[in-house]
Amino acid sequence: MYKLSGVTKNYQKGRGTVAALRGVDLVVEDGEWLSIQGPTGHGKSTLLQILGGLDRPSGGVVDFDGRDLAQLREAEVTKVRAESIGFVFQTFNLIPTLSAQENVETALVPLHVSATARRQRAAIALEAVGLADRLRHVPGELSGGQQQRVAIARALVKEPKVLLADEPTGNLDEDTRDEIIALLDTMWRERGLTMVFVTHDSTVARRAQRIGVMKNGRLTIKKTASSRAARTVPASQAAAPQPDDVDPDDPSALGLDADADSATADD
Ligand code: ADP
Ligand code: MG
Repeated sequence: MYKLSGVTKNYQKGRGTVAALRGVDLVVEDGEWLSIQGPTGHGKSTLLQILGGLDRPSGGVVDFDGRDLAQLREAEVTKVRAESIGFVFQTFNLIPTLSAQENVETALVPLHVSATARRQRAAIALEAVGLADRLRHVPGELSGGQQQRVAIARALVKEPKVLLADEPTGNLDEDTRDEIIALLDTMWRERGLTMVFVTHDSTVARRAQRIGVMKNGRLTIKKTASSRAARTVPASQAAAPQPDDVDPDDPSALGLDADADSATADD
């Protein structure tokens, strides 16, 4: 699905430069679930934006199914994104004046789906996330967990290959977090999705098949997660367990700052 090599990203900040990514190499196989942990400010969101074609790297190759997102023309990147990549954010990013159904429909507009088909597909997508009785509600009339369900329906209504999520449970309480992760787990199992999650939350991270850690703009694959996460990815694609394998619940073992799990501001 993805093959990244030597991906760098520099941001101009005043007269200086911030090196947000310092050479990331990463392979994400079709159907894999990868989570990425790490302290705030170390490049996780930057990497996810580049995977999603929302931003371009300063250097390196971002191969997505055989095409380099770093080199494609803007219109082509937009097309790839509209067709193949779903995005879920910590803050839901719904349009406050639109109903749940209309919010989901927005994902189908660039795909030139007819208005009737848009309405139908949005209703089916909302039903799939348990919101069949909330189609007409605007975001302000929905709980945080319900808003994230709408955002998941919006991300999946176009039947993308990939779902990218940046702290998808960062604004939710624990019970709601568990519901949302269970929902995403179901979607992943049923739809053959490839998923890449950025999260501070070890409970969320360890649901994935592999866990990577971003530190100072570099990514290290630390561990194959629990066997319960196994779906269809062949063993050859999983990181081989190392004698010094670390416990993903132990922040110090992952090289994270001690407070990484409690941090909430992460933009
Ligand atoms: P994380 O998601 O791990 O918290 P980010 O990818 O958001 O980290 O940020 C990595 C680094 O890049 C930080 O130092 C951040 O301040 C900087 N950065 C991110 N986005 C921008 C931007 N648009 N302009 C300037 N600097 C940025
Ligand atoms: Mg971030």
